[in-house]
Amino acid sequence: MKGTSFTQKDKQWMIRAISEAKKAFEEGEVPIGAVLVCEDKLIASCHNQVEQLADATAHAEMLALTSAMASLGAKYLPHSTLYVTLEPCVMCMGAIRWSQIARVVYGASESRFGYCSLAPDSPHPACIIEHGLLENECRELMLQFFEQRREK
Ligand SMILES: [Zn+2]
Repeated sequence: MKGTSFTQKDKQWMIRAISEAKKAFEEGEVPIGAVLVCEDKLIASCHNQVEQLADATAHAEMLALTSAMASLGAKYLPHSTLYVTLEPCVMCMGAIRWSQIARVVYGASESRFGYCSLAPDSPHPACIIEHGLLENECRELMLQFFEQRREK
């Protein structure tokens, strides 16, 4: 659902995710960033590294989940919120479900590869999913990136 009551903290975490997306941009990666927050604490902050790691599964969300589980020593993250600049793909939404994340906040929608069009039932029914936070900033980075690629 489109979120309407994001807090100032939500906004701060999304700004952090956007700065991760900008790092990806500078590294020639599709600019997507994700941060994982547990009880107001930053646990993981990652960006897409598909090119750098030569790994098609190295999406920002996957890296954030893996890193958070490693640093917390936990296989489930039930008290966590994942902030991500773009609508998660089906793979990432599957991983989000397996990790029992309580809440997902994403910025911009993604009509081609986002889970909403391909697998709308993939999230766990108990997972709260909100989107539209700093949507324009998140989308603008993607547009700039692909525009720049076309020019090359
Ligand atoms: Zn993904």
